[in-house]
Amino acid sequence: MSAPRPGSGADGILGVEPRLVFEPAGEAEAREAMQACARDRLRVAFVGGGTDLGLGNPPSGLDAVIRTGRMARVLEHAPHDQIVRVEAGITLSALQAALLPHRQRLALDPPFPARATAGGLLCANGFGPLRTARGSARDLVIGATFIRADGVLAHGGGKVVKNVAGFDLPRLLFGSLGTLGLVTSVNFRLHPLPEEEATLAFPGLSPAAVRGLVGDMRQAQLEPAAVAAIWAGGSLDLLVRFEGFGPGVSGQVERLLAVAGKARASGGRLAPPQAAAAWARQQTAREVGPFRARLAIPPASLEVGTRALGTLLAALPGGAAVWYPTLGLGFAGGAPSGAEAVATAAGDARGALATSGGWLAVNDAPPEVRARLDAWGPAPATLALQRRLKAQLDPEGRLAPGRFVGGI
Ligand SMILES: Cc1cc2nc3c(=O)[nH]c(=O)nc-3n(C[C@H](O)[C@H](O)[C@H](O)COP(=O)(O)OP(=O)(O)OC[C@H]3O[C@@H](n4cnc5c(N)ncnc54)[C@H](O)[C@@H]3O)c2cc1C
Repeated sequence: MSAPRPGSGADGILGVEPRLVFEPAGEAEAREAMQACARDRLRVAFVGGGTDLGLGNPPSGLDAVIRTGRMARVLEHAPHDQIVRVEAGITLSALQAALLPHRQRLALDPPFPARATAGGLLCANGFGPLRTARGSARDLVIGATFIRADGVLAHGGGKVVKNVAGFDLPRLLFGSLGTLGLVTSVNFRLHPLPEEEATLAFPGLSPAAVRGLVGDMRQAQLEPAAVAAIWAGGSLDLLVRFEGFGPGVSGQVERLLAVAGKARASGGRLAPPQAAAAWARQQTAREVGPFRARLAIPPASLEVGTRALGTLLAALPGGAAVWYPTLGLGFAGGAPSGAEAVATAAGDARGALATSGGWLAVNDAPPEVRARLDAWGPAPATLALQRRLKAQLDPEGRLAPGRFVGGI
């Protein structure tokens, strides 16, 4: 195993700096690094591309960081089975490039694909508008190996889509932020690249109209690949993308226009350059900072969610936001007008969302805002179970301590 190097500010997580940094070149070295941390009882956290280290609270303490960037190989690709096995440090862009000659892809589209890694996508739930049809990493992972806090290698799932053997450990790791173990490899199910795609835009809709149109699409059994509603100062600009074979795509476009009713007046199919610009605008809405939040609301309560969004954005002048209205998930961000103002607005928005079963989590924020706003908000009803799981897999509480819900 290559010896760890001294940590520096650049290795820190939310201002908490490690003494040591391990950069394993593969699973065996990663295991040795975790065994060294267990032997010396070091508090350790994991870094992939580092694009989502802002999600969660600062660690309560940190002795070491393990960076997965050198573990970046495609270990196995079975095009006919549409599955791939990769090391956790491979970036999404590198993976997509390896799959392209087979006209296949991993159907995940978070921002920064050139930095986001397979392990980070799984452990931070990285997703984009394609989650509308293909789900999140949780739905695309079919197997994973990880190293427990005690340095023991464990794995769950398999290399075929239909695999029900044993505990569904890969899904347990989903969204765990590195609090349950170090993921070393991931098996993903893949999808074919679409032959055609078409985007329709319906600008200036009310949240009620968006909710209605989403319901009408479901009623009409339309299967959009991606649906996004971009905040436009209180109204929403709706984007709907269909993907697949030509006739199927055109058929769905026609059927959507048929059910769009009044929305049809302002909407229609975009030419490819306009479609690309519209999805880029959606992307920007997810990337503005330095304050960024992830929001959830049941799709049937989109009006409540959008009012809460308005409350938050009032403290983020020039801010932006986007909903995925079929999923009830959204992102909002911008530059705070003041630390107190944005912490209060986020608290109010969080309260409003909670009245309809929603929540707000902080994806990133300046320290003065974090000092006033917990990243997660009220603990979920599942906290006791989550604590028991943590105690099983990390009895000493040394993995990413304090980062997760309820201070896990
Ligand atoms: C401006 C901006 C906008 C963003 N917008 C979105 C968005 O719209 N949608 C979205 O989903 N994401 C968004 N992200 C986050 C990000 O792109 C994804 O979540 C990405 O998947 C994270 O991958 P990563 O490799 O960079 O993870 P990292 O940031 O390195 O890690 C993320 C978390 O996972 C843990 N982790 C990483 N690798 C491992 C491993 N091998 N084993 C165990 N734990 C591990 C880390 O400890 C950390 O807690 C945004 C990020 C930025 C900076």
